[in-house]
Amino acid sequence: MDAVRTQAALLELGQPGYRWEQVRRAVYEQAVSSYDEISVLPADARRALAERAPLLSLTERRVDSSPDGRARKALLDLRDGRTVETVLLRPSPTRWTTCISSQVGCAVACTFCATGLMGLARSLTPEEIADQVLFWRQYMKKNGLEGRLDNVVYMGMGEPFACYDETAESLRALLDQKRLGIGARHISVSTSGIAPKIVQFGRDFAQVNLALSLHAADDALRTRLVPMNKAYPLAKLAEALKDYLAQTNRKIFFEYVLLKGENDRAEDAEALARWLSGLGPSALLHVNLIVFNQTDTPHAPTDESDARRFQAWILAAGFKATVRRNLGRDIDGACGQLAVLEGKK
Ligand code: SAH
Ligand code: SF4
Repeated sequence: MDAVRTQAALLELGQPGYRWEQVRRAVYEQAVSSYDEISVLPADARRALAERAPLLSLTERRVDSSPDGRARKALLDLRDGRTVETVLLRPSPTRWTTCISSQVGCAVACTFCATGLMGLARSLTPEEIADQVLFWRQYMKKNGLEGRLDNVVYMGMGEPFACYDETAESLRALLDQKRLGIGARHISVSTSGIAPKIVQFGRDFAQVNLALSLHAADDALRTRLVPMNKAYPLAKLAEALKDYLAQTNRKIFFEYVLLKGENDRAEDAEALARWLSGLGPSALLHVNLIVFNQTDTPHAPTDESDARRFQAWILAAGFKATVRRNLGRDIDGACGQLAVLEGKK
């Protein structure tokens, strides 16, 4: 939903001013799936609105659910015929989280990431990014799923800071109490490290969580895994992160996908601890270790014991470190497994 477009359409249709509030409540507070469900609206206005200002910018092609129902992945059709994936997770019985995409594909081309393999088709519009949240809220309502979806991570397909303006605009829709109404501290944006945008993000959205996908604290290794590191090497990244910390005083989450024999050795943990210690107080630095999800890439998988070993090294060096639980692996809906090779699915 593009709230501005819908409001304009209502005006053009000659509807009184209070109509927008009726539509807004139905869409954002009751998660109706179609204007037809808004019975207070005159029937001709419902039809005209659906044509001029479609309620959602994306439509469901299919949804896969894990057997335990804790992870669901949707394949969504966009209006230009492209598709994108989005994930709904239930980490605990009362909490729902969605992992949303910012682009169709990704140009960063991290060697271990399924999305990276497909290259970049295009960025999503702010409406398409925010509508993924609306889509899942509608889905939950239709399917009688209890609880509220009020956690969002920008960790689906794409690099959110490669389309900073679209990401920022979508964040405003998420944060707006009159629209999606999600608390800033319940939103995380994950980036592979576009340094100038990290600085800008700290100024624009100091209360929204930042996750930095690091994966290596050595320039040669990081450039191999995350080619973006060539443009923004570790020293540049450190500068941007220090600026971010000074600006926000907020904790930064460092994502680190463990790849067997490549970045999971004791010396890699040492390099990581050394690099982190140059950034700021350890209380503000949190390492999130991710067991590598098998993708169609030349890397060897790691398992939980690899992650625990690495975690112990980081903890011993005085930093916080957790091992991220991997919901959604059985539906290829875990991080880095989102890839819609056009026409393949
Ligand atoms: N482009 C952004 C956000 C999307 S990727 C970024 O890179 O941060 C979201 C997370 O999934 C990142 O931390 C990414 O490194 C991780 N990821 C990518 N491929 C993965 C894989 N095969 N297994 C586990 N995590 C992966
Ligand atoms: Fe893009 Fe993130 Fe995948 Fe790297 S990990 S290719 S930045 S989506």
